Amino acid sequence: MSVANHYKSNLRDILFNLFEVNDIGSNVLNHPRFSTMDEDNAKDALAGIETFAQEVFQKAFVPSDRTPLTLDAEGNVGVPQEILDVFHRFYDDGWHMFEVPEHLDGFNAPPSLVWSAFEMQVGSCASATFYLFGIYIAKIIDRLGTDSQKARYVRQMLDKRWGGCMVLTEPDAGSDVGAGRAKARHIEGDVWELEGVKRFITNGDFETENIVHLVLARPEGGASGTKGLSMFIVPKFWVNEDGSLGERNGAFVTNVEKKMGLHGSCTCELTLGDRMPCRGLLVGEVHDGIKQMFHVIEHARMAVGIKSVSTVSTAYLNALAYAKERVQGPDLAKAMDKNSPRVRIIEHPDVRRMLLELKSHAEGMRALALYTAYIQDQVQILGGHGATEAKALDRLNDLLLPLVKGYASHRSYALLGDALQIFGGSGYVRDYPMEQYIRDQKIDTLYEGTTHIQALDFLFRKVMRDGGKTLMGLMMKMQKTLADIKGLDAFSVEHAALTRSMGDVQSMLMTLQKKVGESIYHAGLQGNRILFAIAETVIGWLLIRHAQIAAERLPDAKGRDVSFYTGKIASARWYCENVLPGHTLTRKLVENSTLQATAVPEDAF
Ligand SMILES: Cc1cc2nc3c(=O)[nH]c(=O)nc-3n(C[C@H](O)[C@H](O)[C@H](O)COP(=O)(O)OP(=O)(O)OC[C@H]3O[C@@H](n4cnc5c(N)ncnc54)[C@H](O)[C@@H]3O)c2cc1C
Repeated sequence: MSVANHYKSNLRDILFNLFEVNDIGSNVLNHPRFSTMDEDNAKDALAGIETFAQEVFQKAFVPSDRTPLTLDAEGNVGVPQEILDVFHRFYDDGWHMFEVPEHLDGFNAPPSLVWSAFEMQVGSCASATFYLFGIYIAKIIDRLGTDSQKARYVRQMLDKRWGGCMVLTEPDAGSDVGAGRAKARHIEGDVWELEGVKRFITNGDFETENIVHLVLARPEGGASGTKGLSMFIVPKFWVNEDGSLGERNGAFVTNVEKKMGLHGSCTCELTLGDRMPCRGLLVGEVHDGIKQMFHVIEHARMAVGIKSVSTVSTAYLNALAYAKERVQGPDLAKAMDKNSPRVRIIEHPDVRRMLLELKSHAEGMRALALYTAYIQDQVQILGGHGATEAKALDRLNDLLLPLVKGYASHRSYALLGDALQIFGGSGYVRDYPMEQYIRDQKIDTLYEGTTHIQALDFLFRKVMRDGGKTLMGLMMKMQKTLADIKGLDAFSVEHAALTRSMGDVQSMLMTLQKKVGESIYHAGLQGNRILFAIAETVIGWLLIRHAQIAAERLPDAKGRDVSFYTGKIASARWYCENVLPGHTLTRKLVENSTLQATAVPEDAF
């Protein structure tokens, strides 16, 4: 075991989610919307990505952390050669076409498969994975751009490996995107000139032919807040109408941040229109910037949640391997006998506790992410985002996203501490990947909306504005699972735990509704807690469904599947006994919510 070969995938569990739980073979791949792949091709593709992640992506993991990025006077960013190697191998081997629609000659993989592949890429080297974002930006221009914009950008971005980034944040506009001051002045047609300073921009520049920045800026005289923002295609090098590359455009990287982790991913200050005019094209010739950017934001939120899931999963599997080798101390039951043999640390109850905590959460958070991805498959089958028939499932996807991003990123940071703990002092040194995992993962609770921004989005936009309908629909699915397992002795613990947890979270929401009548601050004070409890209830439900399927298959299972299914049942039991009961305390804390925190005088802090 070494940090260089750190990445441990869990393709078996990914396949279980995709084909044994969500049955995408019948429910997705059989549908004409996704006819380019059958179940066998899909499994082969994922096995191919797993190999690619292990043989190519993970080689960049250490260099991406330890080789500093460079910035020259012309605003060009240099990244480690190992990252460029991953980038070019990805395109050389044609993986960039996996998610691209058929009309662009891509394989049109459904979201379930795209996110499964992403899990393995981002888990093996997140920094390298992010440089591939240009592929998604090309898809966005293909979806939202005018015909002329599509002709100028989309195929070139894919064929010529152009980079892409999303440009929202400014020094005074972080969570409050609507406070952005970057401004845009109309020149002619869809051409505008932009001015302003953007901050913390991932992929702001790197060594590729062109970079396409999707920028939010406010047209002169535009309304304040997010409503007045428009979205612009701002290339590093101008793209002429015939598609040829023009002169340097005035979007310059003026600083590269020195971060706690994720060192290989360049996080840039981007200055627009200072050294020379910065031209951009108004996307789709409509002033609908925040709505358009939400296509990118939602994608990025899912990506961040899965990055956290993947990091916890590989951390768990590394900790497991270490715990099976490391010998230290006697069995607790024989501790008084000085001559008792020393045992491997996996034999110590506290280490087993941490391992099961990691295993059940890694599997549970993956289940949540891939269930969400499966809902995205169904949205596409029903006509896609905005289609009338897809509306209900689209809302379910919207409801689940803050759970994937907000909960998984927050919980993972604590879980990675446990994974490091299993290594003892060795976890704290660079010989093992744990310390880098923690540094590289922490950002997940911050970007794409901090945890609390996710909680507010969940409570106000996804639950209250919807009158609780979508959440109730999800609860009814859980009720059905409970009805199916009623009377089965083997699942009586699970039945009781989920029943109670559902009651707790429903009660929390009702209590909050009343308390918000007293003061909206209760939502601010209790929001994160409620977000986490609901995420855990959904995860508990999914793990119970996994355990039911595993229990059905166990009697006929052979070889490694016996341990796999046994482990799935153990994960659900652990979660039901150790995580879901915590919601009763959370309910009481919400019931007892007071405004004390808001009343303490600032000087008393
Ligand atoms: C490595 C990295 C990469 C990034 N990549 C990109 C990128 O590619 N493109 C891009 O546009 N941006 C990017 N960002 C910016 C990122 O999205 C912001 O940092 C994030 O949205 C938080 O904004 P902020 O840093 O200004 O924090 P602030 O908004 O100042 O938040 C500080 C604290 O206050 C809390 N807070 C803020 N507002 C509220 C509120 N209304 N109610 C309650 N609490 C609140 C927050 O939860 C947080 O705890 C990146 C940032 C980093 C660090």
